[in-house]
Amino acid sequence: MVIERVAVIGAGTMGTGIAMAVANSGLPVHVSDASAQALERGRATIARTYDGAVARGRLQQEEKLRRLERIAFDADDQGVLGRVDLVIEAAFEDLSVKQGVFERLGRACRQDAILATNTSTLDVDAIARAAPRAERSLGLHFFSPAHVMRLLEVVRGSGTAAETIDAALDFARHIGKLPVVVGNGDGFVGNRMLLHYRREAELALERGATPAQVDRALVAFGFAMGPFAVADLAGVDVGWRAKQERNKRGGLPFRVSEIPDRLVEAGRLGQKTGAGYYRYDGGKRTPIPDPLVDDVLAQERSRIGIAPHAPSDDEIVARCLCALINEGARILDDRIASSPSDIDTIWRTGYGFPAERGGPMAYADATGLERVLAAVHRFAEDDPAFWRPAPLLEKLARGGQRFSSLNASGS
Ligand code: NAD
Repeated sequence: MVIERVAVIGAGTMGTGIAMAVANSGLPVHVSDASAQALERGRATIARTYDGAVARGRLQQEEKLRRLERIAFDADDQGVLGRVDLVIEAAFEDLSVKQGVFERLGRACRQDAILATNTSTLDVDAIARAAPRAERSLGLHFFSPAHVMRLLEVVRGSGTAAETIDAALDFARHIGKLPVVVGNGDGFVGNRMLLHYRREAELALERGATPAQVDRALVAFGFAMGPFAVADLAGVDVGWRAKQERNKRGGLPFRVSEIPDRLVEAGRLGQKTGAGYYRYDGGKRTPIPDPLVDDVLAQERSRIGIAPHAPSDDEIVARCLCALINEGARILDDRIASSPSDIDTIWRTGYGFPAERGGPMAYADATGLERVLAAVHRFAEDDPAFWRPAPLLEKLARGGQRFSSLNASGS
């Protein structure tokens, strides 16, 4: 099936970005939203984004008009839904909202239309069941800003048909994305590993580091940005909200820092509020270390009874990287990613992992899996709940093998 007509449900941050990605590739796209105001805001955002590109000389005026012509904004999508080949749902991150949308899509769309959800944390199967059209449903996890970021996690649900995945991959490539097929599980591949990486970055703050030291250490390793500059850019509340939702589902089997909770409570949501892990003056994007954050960190350390002793840069990098590698191995154990190179692609293209190091799994191979495992064992001495070595890491390290051997055998 060739996808030629697309509808996007939800005209927020992601819906507008996805609509632009589709229109930029030459395909028509219909955008609707439950809120007339949000739809109008979405239309304005898209017009502003294109105007900005024209002003910077990146887009011709005529091409801007052609792109705008391809995007229809209409709250009433009932008629359109019966004609489209693909619907991408980008409504609120709330299971009942998404199930409501899918229930409506199941009634309104053609039987062979593909129904995609852009959820970043919810169970794709639970959303698909509402249509119910499992073989035609999947996740298309775009990254923000969706018209810029090339990575697309294509989430295979338990009932997704092979033709549906193939059609989604063709569509993804047509709109200029780099699709990677992943399994359905909390955080899929990228965000699941991010949680572990960020957890270790936060614990470095508890031990005595500053956000600037952690960011500097990881930028020196080669990351495009440090984890706290990224958190401020994306919004400190994004991870915090996901944590609240996860807590409702029973929480995590290991401790995570409450520093993000303290920042959110203080209204420090990142760049959008002018302050997060850093301060941002005069609407600029330059992170400035903030003594108020030092106070928050000092209070958190005394609340949990830690005498600060700043870790070395090497220790920070080793813990953050081993957290990524160990969870990456577990993701392979769980068959959420089909190969180490898929994980590496996701981290290079979606998370700023240094390209010259290949990706977390290639970096692990270059370091030597026995050394990685020894570090995991050392970290486990005082934090066994988090640092449980992944069975695959143990097996490969013991056998003197590398993750790349799995790429070669295609298993
Ligand atoms: P947003 O709040 O900016 O936009 C959501 C839009 O959906 C709103 O305009 C809202 O009015 C509309 N909406 C809500 N319920 C609706 C319904 N029943 N029918 C039609 N429209 C409805 O949110 P966002 O950041 O664009 O996120 C959208 C989805 O994309 C979420 O599932 C989110 O987890 C996911 N996502 C977000 C990011 C990100 O960085 N923001 C990245 C990847 C995925």
